[in-house]
Amino acid sequence: MISATQIYDYVQCPHRVFLDAYGDRALRDEPNAFVELLWEQGIKHEENIISSLPITADMSQVDKANRERETLAAMHRREPLIYSGRLTSGDLVGEPDLLQLRGSGYIPGDIKSGSGFEGDESEGKLKKHYAVQLGHYVQILEQIGMGDGSREAFVIDRQGNHVPYLLMELQGVRNTQTWWEYYQQSLSEVRAIVQQTQSTMGALSAVCKLCHWYSHCKQELVAQDDLTLIAELGRTKRDVMIQAISSVHAFAGCDPASFIQGKKTIFPGIGPDTLLKFHARAQLLSTPGATAYLKEPVRLPVARNEVYFDIEADPMSDVVYLHGFVERLHGQPATARFIPFFAEGTESAQEEAVFSQAWGYLQSKVQDSTIYYYSKYERTAYKKLAEKYSNVCSVEDVENLFALPAMIDLYFDVVKKSTEWPAYDQSIKTLAQYLGFRWRDTHPSGAASIEWYHRWIESGDQAIKQRILDYNEDDCLATGIVVDGIREL
Ligand code: SF4
Repeated sequence: MISATQIYDYVQCPHRVFLDAYGDRALRDEPNAFVELLWEQGIKHEENIISSLPITADMSQVDKANRERETLAAMHRREPLIYSGRLTSGDLVGEPDLLQLRGSGYIPGDIKSGSGFEGDESEGKLKKHYAVQLGHYVQILEQIGMGDGSREAFVIDRQGNHVPYLLMELQGVRNTQTWWEYYQQSLSEVRAIVQQTQSTMGALSAVCKLCHWYSHCKQELVAQDDLTLIAELGRTKRDVMIQAISSVHAFAGCDPASFIQGKKTIFPGIGPDTLLKFHARAQLLSTPGATAYLKEPVRLPVARNEVYFDIEADPMSDVVYLHGFVERLHGQPATARFIPFFAEGTESAQEEAVFSQAWGYLQSKVQDSTIYYYSKYERTAYKKLAEKYSNVCSVEDVENLFALPAMIDLYFDVVKKSTEWPAYDQSIKTLAQYLGFRWRDTHPSGAASIEWYHRWIESGDQAIKQRILDYNEDDCLATGIVVDGIREL
């Protein structure tokens, strides 16, 4: 049977659908604590939402064997709102959180602990993986004659907002495929994967880090010398290149000019500059002992003090819980001092208090220091905080601060633009480790920090708080290490 979860997974990674169906379970990684936390939080959120809804038929208490029959019976009774039903039709199975009676039939809904939209909510872009799950339920409802004919569905998001998913609408201005067509395409591909008439390949990407096949896939991809080992070369690009270039070594050994025709390459969606960049990275990865280098001269400002800045935020509670700064005198790493502003809870007043302290600190430091942060995350989070806490500062104040020459986005302004590294990605962890820095924690990651923060909120355990602080301090120190490393280059 093809489930909504499989369609959801397919959108993230087709290979995951294959491995979950046919992979050796012994090769799976241990459950990831952050993923388990997401599940826990999802269940709690669902319970909260459900307690506020006028549910008329609750299927969650019905045993699995009878749930489908009871769900059908509830629909035939025309129950207005059914919770946790089960539907099947042919080779399809779906368990929508909600089935809402509308006119002559039902529309499905899911309760999600994340945002109902992709990225910036104000843009109103629906999430692909939510849309296909909902499409799956609509498909089953139509097949069993219980749909309302509209192909509409909804998500109740982390704030309890009702987000309509109109599946007959186009995905966007440029992408003129409807969500419904996208679901149909995804379904037929999942079906082909499950029936093993279509093969899949892994691809190293950000989603891999939370996947239980990560170690297995990474090992395989390294053994295959797969093109997705090249930083920023993802599945889509790999798939258009692979017929012509089979591996990183093959790429490194070829003449990239042979793929360039005028202002284009023979690979759709990949321009000449991007191809040359990937080729340089392939050469770095294929050359034993290769070292990082500058693509162009880099001028980092010299101020009396340097500050390395990193925040920790929890998207589940929608709270920025730590603003960490390491400050040191220019060229004197031994003077490094850690200054954290840590929210002692998830209440707005606590988040506002630490934001205010961090904002005050930045205001004072920007006078005589160069302040480094890694990627746009800090700036985006500060703009959101300014929207929430206009007493502290305005969005314009944040934009003005981050526009100052003393504020340097080390990733976008320097690393991405002007450097190359013999590494699979350009994350701060990868680059600092390449330069010999080691985190004190054995499993450092932003996701792990969120999980620790939740445990600390529950337990008040000071050792967990210290772990969060140490991790953040090491992230800030690592930023300094990369600055030093680039100066060496
Ligand atoms: S580790 Fe990555 S490539 Fe492998 S199944 Fe998971 S998401 Fe896909």
